[in-house]
Amino acid sequence: MREETLAIRRRMDAAAVRAGRRPEEVTLVAVTKTVGVDAVQEAFRAGLRVFGENRVQEAREKTVHLPAGEYPGIRWHLIGHLQKNKAKYAVRLFDLIHTVDSPELAEELHRQAERAGRVQRVLVQVKLSPEDTKHGAAEQDLLPLLERVRELGALHAEGLMTMPPFCDDPEKSRPYFRTLRELRDRAEERGFRLPELSMGMSDDFEIAIEEGATFVRIGTALFGERSK
Ligand SMILES: *Cc1c(COP(=O)(O)O)cnc(C)c1O
Repeated sequence: MREETLAIRRRMDAAAVRAGRRPEEVTLVAVTKTVGVDAVQEAFRAGLRVFGENRVQEAREKTVHLPAGEYPGIRWHLIGHLQKNKAKYAVRLFDLIHTVDSPELAEELHRQAERAGRVQRVLVQVKLSPEDTKHGAAEQDLLPLLERVRELGALHAEGLMTMPPFCDDPEKSRPYFRTLRELRDRAEERGFRLPELSMGMSDDFEIAIEEGATFVRIGTALFGERSK
């Protein structure tokens, strides 16, 4: 695990340097969906601190075995679609939710965060390709959604997230990453502050970093192929 982690980190740093960026700007989110508790504990010992889960229930089960008291500095991110009825649990578990994609979900997260007396950090997920069935706000709905989130005091939007359609050639992801960055830049011209870009997975994280990613979400390249 230590070797895999170091190898990925080295590739991330090299990609950042190629793009004239500072390696510290990019956080590795270790994606632990379907990965057992033992492997997550080992990953922590190998130096990983930020873990990404795509289902609330699975994350709940795992966090019980990785209490922050014994695993200082551990952070959990939600990277999968969130249903409104799970917002209450999501607010308790996740430091950052990457997948806000509708005003209704934002409003429910706000209610739950307010009730819990905290500010929930979120990213807005954008759907950039019409053909894919993945979640995310459509491009033309992004600014209105950001406006809405800004009105919700218990939410803090810090950036954007996307997931390009799956493809064998990682270079095909580049235009999607670039588009996300351009959308972010345009939103910033309108007064939003969105420093974070969550984009890039095992096969295309170097390209994502070249295009401005600040979070890369990596599962397979760290933990091996997931069993179905
Ligand atoms: C599973 C998953 C990843 C990690 O994918 P790998 O190809 O295993 O690195 C990243 N992001 C999301 C949203 C995922 O669901």
